[in-house]
Amino acid sequence: MLRRTFLKNGTLILGNLPLFCRSVEAATLALNEPSDDNALLRMGLVTDLHYADKDPGGTRHYRDSIQKFEECIQTFNAEDLDLAIELGDFVDAAEEVETEIAYLKTLDKIYSKFKGDRHYVLGNHCVWTLTKEQFRDNSGAKATHYSFDKNGVHIIILDACYRADGVSYGHRNYEWTDTEIPLEEQEWLKDDLSKTDLPTVAFTHQRIDVSNHYGIKSGPEVRKILEDSGKVLAVFQGHNHINEHNEIGGIHYVTLAALIEGSGQENNAYSILDVYPDRLEVTGFRNQSGYSLMA
Ligand SMILES: [Zn+2]
Repeated sequence: MLRRTFLKNGTLILGNLPLFCRSVEAATLALNEPSDDNALLRMGLVTDLHYADKDPGGTRHYRDSIQKFEECIQTFNAEDLDLAIELGDFVDAAEEVETEIAYLKTLDKIYSKFKGDRHYVLGNHCVWTLTKEQFRDNSGAKATHYSFDKNGVHIIILDACYRADGVSYGHRNYEWTDTEIPLEEQEWLKDDLSKTDLPTVAFTHQRIDVSNHYGIKSGPEVRKILEDSGKVLAVFQGHNHINEHNEIGGIHYVTLAALIEGSGQENNAYSILDVYPDRLEVTGFRNQSGYSLMA
C-alpha cells in the first residue's frame, strides 16, 4: 500500500520522497477525496499547558493557559468526541505543594467540563513539585500507565516519568533529560500488545522517536516492542513544544505543539484525532499542524 503523509496546511511530506515530487494541489485533492467511511473513534488532544498563576517566563505565558484551555474544551465539546487526552505538563511548578495542587485543581475544573472520557499522560512538570500520587489524588487521573479499548481501537497511555536508574519521578528528584520507560513498563507494554488484535495508538509525554534531550533513554528498545507487535499505527507525544512528524519502522510519531507557547488565543494549540480503518486524520487548531497519516 502506498503510504501517504502530508501536512494539511500546505507543506507536503510524502514518506521519504523529497517535497518537490508532489504538488500541494495533489495533497489537497487527496484530502478532498470522498470518504464513505466514518471515523471509528474521535478524540481531542492537547499537551504542555504548563498552567501556573505566575508571570510569563520567556515565551511561556502561564496565566493565558486558562483561556486557551477553555477554548480547547469548548471546541472539543462542539464536536462529537469520544474522549480527550492531555499529554502532560498539565501544570507548571510552584514552590509549595499546596500552591501547585491549587493550579492543578483550577485546570482540572476546566477539563472536567469535557463531555467525554478524560485521560492524563504524566509529564515531567506534573511531578516536579508533586508526587505521582498527589497528581492523581487531585485530578481525574486514574493510573500512570494503562490501556483500554474504545470503538475497536486499542489505546495505550505510557509513563516515561522515570529516571534511567528506574526511580520514579516526584518531589524534585530528577533531571528533566534523564527520562525513561523502565524495563518493568516495557515488559507490561509487550504483554499488553500481545493480548490485543486491535489497531493501536499510543500516547507518551517524552519522545520515543529521538535520542536527544527530549527522548527517553531506551527509545530504540521501546520502538522495537511497538514495531514487533505489528499493531501500532501511531504514537503521539508532547514535551518538545514543536510540531513534528517522523515515520520509523512503519509507525507514525507525531509530536504535538504546546498550548503554553506564546500569549493570547492566537497562540493556542490543540487538535482532534479521527481514527479511520485506513488512516488517522489530525485536525490542528491555531498553532497545531494537521496531518493525514495512512495506516
Ligand atoms: Zn515535558
